[in-house]
Amino acid sequence: MPTLTALTNHQIRLASRPVGLPTPANWQFTDEPVQQPGEGGVLLKTLALSLDPAMRGWMNEGKSYIPPVGIGEVMRAGGVGVVIASNNPAYAVGDHVSAGFGVQEYLTLENADFKRGGLVKIDLGMGSLTQWLNVLGMPGMTGYFGLMDVGQPKAGETVVVSGAAGAVGQTVGQMAKLKDCRVVGIAGGAAKCDWVVKELGFDACIDYKAGPSAVRDGLKEHCPTGVDVYFDNVGGEILDAVLARINRSARIIICGAISQYNNTTAVQGPKNYLSLLVNRARMEGIVVFDYADRYHLAVAEMADYLKSGKMKSKEDVVTGLNNFPEALNKLFSGENFGKLVLEVAAN
Ligand code: NAP
Repeated sequence: MPTLTALTNHQIRLASRPVGLPTPANWQFTDEPVQQPGEGGVLLKTLALSLDPAMRGWMNEGKSYIPPVGIGEVMRAGGVGVVIASNNPAYAVGDHVSAGFGVQEYLTLENADFKRGGLVKIDLGMGSLTQWLNVLGMPGMTGYFGLMDVGQPKAGETVVVSGAAGAVGQTVGQMAKLKDCRVVGIAGGAAKCDWVVKELGFDACIDYKAGPSAVRDGLKEHCPTGVDVYFDNVGGEILDAVLARINRSARIIICGAISQYNNTTAVQGPKNYLSLLVNRARMEGIVVFDYADRYHLAVAEMADYLKSGKMKSKEDVVTGLNNFPEALNKLFSGENFGKLVLEVAAN
């Protein structure tokens, strides 16, 4: 194995817990020498990181589906990279992998930590590096299993998805079209709405920023027979507007509530929840990691769709590790168009 101790690992750590939107003061930039892996371990170089709304939740104290990032720790992030040194016959130098890289340039992973670190080889013949962070990665798995397992869409049903032009939303809408549903997206701005309709083949898209009654009016116009499945990425008032239009036995997938993540007051829960009672409907949360043992099946299926052109993907790539803090905040202003990716090094 070549000596790589001369390499420096640039890292971004959580310096303090944000109140509201993260600010530069919440981050600390550090350097340390790259560690050599021990017996059976590997040294990975980060190529690209997945920037996710969930990161905002991981910065908070308190109980969740995963422990918070500790103050002073390297910020948690999934990513894709390449093996640059290996003491393990199962991983060769040059292999591409996905793992929990953290916001840093290198990751030394010891053999005992492979599972916890989420180390998996990826095949760039199935999709590009950035698609492995999108449709073939965590957001794609979320959209696939949330829609298929929890939403259980049937041909002819109306499926509504918010955050439609984002990472999870683009997979949800396209999968629902492949299941012969009527698909209505909700997204911010005409450009995103045009893209999901003209490029991805959604039946309609509602620009929720077009005016105070845009969602209510849009649902009335585009869901004339009501809503059977709602895939909720945003929560808040949009969830309430959809609840008012659901059909009997509707399924609502609670995937996320990005409109609430930077609240400095209590989360706004659904006011219209009695619509669930009237319509014998259900609302169910999903955490993608629960489906890890079936990821390979969804990856194979969606890689085929990508190859045959039945599915498209869009990634929004920001370059440079040091741009992480500003890039992350694009998720909360809606400046990202497609899956937000931070390119750390060229492949
Ligand atoms: P994304 O949609 O690619 O990016 C976030 C988008 O949210 C922004 O582009 C913006 O789009 C929209 N947004 C921001 N603030 C908003 C607001 N106040 N009201 C309405 N929309 C707003 O992000 P993603 O990675 O696909 O994640 C989407 C959701 O899924 C998030 O809630 C995330 O936490 C959740 N998620 C859950 C799981 C799970 O296991 N449960 C896994 C992955 C993701 P517009 O321009 O359209 O406003």
